[in-house]
Amino acid sequence: MLPSSNPASFDKSAAYDYLIVGGGAAGLSLAYHLSQEPRLADKTVLLIEPEAKDQNDRTWSFWTAEPHLFEAIVAHEWHRIAFRSPGFEQVIGLGPYRYQMIRGLDFYTFVRQALAANPRFTLLRGTVDELTNTPTGVRAQGSAGTATARYGFDSRPPAVVQNPARHRYLLQHFVGWEVETDADLFDPSVVEFMDFRGPQHREARFIYVLPFGPRRALVEYTLFSETPLPRADYETHIADYLQHTLGLAAGQYRVVAEEAGAIPMTDHPLPARVGPHIVNLGTRGGRAKPSTGYAFRRIQAQSARLVAALAETGQLPADATGDRWQFRLFDTLLLDIMQRRGETTRDIFRQLFERNPVERIFRFLDETTSWADNLRVMNSVSPGPFMRSIGHVLRGRPGKKRKG
Ligand SMILES: Cc1cc2nc3c(=O)[nH]c(=O)nc-3n(C[C@H](O)[C@H](O)[C@H](O)COP(=O)(O)OP(=O)(O)OC[C@H]3O[C@@H](n4cnc5c(N)ncnc54)[C@H](O)[C@@H]3O)c2cc1C
Repeated sequence: MLPSSNPASFDKSAAYDYLIVGGGAAGLSLAYHLSQEPRLADKTVLLIEPEAKDQNDRTWSFWTAEPHLFEAIVAHEWHRIAFRSPGFEQVIGLGPYRYQMIRGLDFYTFVRQALAANPRFTLLRGTVDELTNTPTGVRAQGSAGTATARYGFDSRPPAVVQNPARHRYLLQHFVGWEVETDADLFDPSVVEFMDFRGPQHREARFIYVLPFGPRRALVEYTLFSETPLPRADYETHIADYLQHTLGLAAGQYRVVAEEAGAIPMTDHPLPARVGPHIVNLGTRGGRAKPSTGYAFRRIQAQSARLVAALAETGQLPADATGDRWQFRLFDTLLLDIMQRRGETTRDIFRQLFERNPVERIFRFLDETTSWADNLRVMNSVSPGPFMRSIGHVLRGRPGKKRKG
């Protein structure tokens, strides 16, 4: 048995109320939401996670118009973003929205400390190899033995067997350098949200900058495409941006931290509900938005939805996500275009930002727009690429990358 953070209270003979598999963003979010719900104050929770979660392995950025449970650990917040592409550049005030950043390590520490102080929660260090429905609940088997619970929540990375004849498989992949400069250079009040001015190489490629101060920023080279690049290629593009766009020679900045990642962008089915007692969370439950890779806010929304149902009815909600089919269709169409003609993506985003208020774009991406606003959004982009992709969706076959 692997070392446990609280081994004495892992009672193999006891059935927990809730079992959470994986303590990353989604598992810890659900656990924290549960811990904050007074109506579930008597419920026992076992969370099983193999890693110590003591590294800052990622940062989460997201927009929000509402206060949330993690305000205390927001490391930075911005009220304006910039969108740039050839022929169109705009710095946009976010109105009621704020763009926020949370460091992974702050999140893991904050939630794990809160749970450790709560005797109803057991954090166990280990893996779960199998999670199954039983007539009365769930059973998990893994490195720590067997555990049972009434409901199970699974956030292990999904084991996707790709079916490219039916679905689209892209990645949001990126490398970021946190740089420190000798002179004031960044506007700390403006996030460079998407800078598409560089060559696209028949893909969607942009620079993303989170400025933390006039001399410090995270600069990322990001792509929406099928295949990651060699590490050196991302770094060449970041150095190129620093030199040619910001006018920084090699000796005028230092790289103080690095980040890299690849987030799945796919219309492969990732069902959130698995039988009567199991719900999939996070990436496994389709919470990474297929057309953007943003997941953190969707994870919070799912946690809130699950906790509300458990508190109100004692049971899981019939619909574990609240996803609406029309947004799934929009995501699939955009993925199809990105896969076929990646370079068109920047035109679509340019038209979106040129012709819509940012509030509408954010609500559309949050999947909370009305039918009327969905029509306005769709009318703001050139229909050609979408018509062709609608054909692919109707035929049930993804479009192929254009040759030549
Ligand atoms: C570098 C990076 C940056 C990102 N930035 C953003 C961002 O800015 N904004 C945004 O909205 N989204 C972002 N995302 C996407 C998404 O928010 C994250 O991937 C998020 O961590 C997904 O949460 P999750 O719980 O599904 O997965 P994870 O956070 O990866 O958690 C899964 C957990 O399961 C554990 N596990 C694995 N195997 C087992 C097993 N057998 N048994 C038990 N546990 C197991 C793992 O150790 C891990 O802790 C980013 C992703 C990456 C990789």
